[in-house]
Amino acid sequence: MIPYSTQLIEQDDIDAVVEVLKSPFLTQGAKVEEFEKALCSYTGSKHAVVFNSATSALLGAYTVCEIKKDDEIITTPISFVATSNMFISLGAKPIWCDIKLDGNMDERLLEKLITPRTKAIVGVDFAGKPLEFSKIREIANKHNLLFIDDASHALGSSVEGQKVGSLSDMTILSFHAIKPITTGEGGAVLTDSDEWAAKLRLFRSHGMVKKELWSSDMVSLGHNFRLTEIAAALGISQLKKLDSFVKTRNEIAAYYDERFKDEKLFITQKIPSNTLSARHLYPIILNSELQCAKEDIFKELQARGLGVQVHYKPIYQNSFYKEHFGDISLQVADDFYKSEISIPCHQKMTQEDASFVADTFLEVLGKYSHRGSCF
Ligand SMILES: *Cc1c(COP(=O)(O)O)cnc(C)c1O
Repeated sequence: MIPYSTQLIEQDDIDAVVEVLKSPFLTQGAKVEEFEKALCSYTGSKHAVVFNSATSALLGAYTVCEIKKDDEIITTPISFVATSNMFISLGAKPIWCDIKLDGNMDERLLEKLITPRTKAIVGVDFAGKPLEFSKIREIANKHNLLFIDDASHALGSSVEGQKVGSLSDMTILSFHAIKPITTGEGGAVLTDSDEWAAKLRLFRSHGMVKKELWSSDMVSLGHNFRLTEIAAALGISQLKKLDSFVKTRNEIAAYYDERFKDEKLFITQKIPSNTLSARHLYPIILNSELQCAKEDIFKELQARGLGVQVHYKPIYQNSFYKEHFGDISLQVADDFYKSEISIPCHQKMTQEDASFVADTFLEVLGKYSHRGSCF
């Protein structure tokens, strides 16, 4: 099975981890700081604070910018649940913004959703495609809102040469195994704010500051959301290869784009020429006449060795969300869920893998295209 995404771990990654295992510090040593510095120099962000997951990084980011009970957060339903779960855990309310066919939030709809209670806009660079940063920035500034980017898919993406991570008030990264680079589990918050960075460090580690000798003081409420030295060493090693991972994923994606350019049964995500996508996913949007056959198509693709997946069920369709926020339906997001399939695209794939995926995909779709419409 060729998975839709997977990690690439090489001997130098293993050596970096083993070196830490033989050292005196498995946690709270120099590797975490080195990884944070490397993330800053890669993205152009002033600060990077690493966490043990993107989920804890999201909670940290929302907490230090003081998102609280009854605040409204405008966000996208097409994401992993953690994006909104973490501000809901602080008592804030999701205001769902519908998406465009590229899977990113539709910035043209944002202003209509703003109320006096709105505190922040939280976007996701779906599949690695950067948000419309300048347009969202302008709206956020005009209405005095925070602009937070869950860039869990997008480390390595850029717009006009400016890296994702330097384009919003706070940017969240994930280093989960199958994300653009990995530390096994891990995450980070990037920000230019000295104040937020300091608060994030406290939040990550019990809210405690060291004084002299044995004395310390707990100055704010915190957790243990620290990344280990073992993980940080893997992150440092992986980050050196990020550009080559992004290059390989873009080569695979460019090959698919070429193979699929005259397709009538589906559309693909278009990346503008001034933009680089990390290509965490390669999403396919089936035409409406194939929606009913999606289950069969999905099963057959899996049976034939394509580890396809669907990204994502709109967050508001989950039972927890229905129970707390009622039934919600947004047309494009609902339709996107019915139509989307992510096909394999990752740095471990060869050209032969990519041809096999494209051939198999087109063959299976062709087979189901004669089934007629849903109704
Ligand atoms: C993977 C992911 C997360 C969660 O990341 P973890 O590191 O697993 O906590 C959050 N948001 C998005 C968009 C993701 O893809």
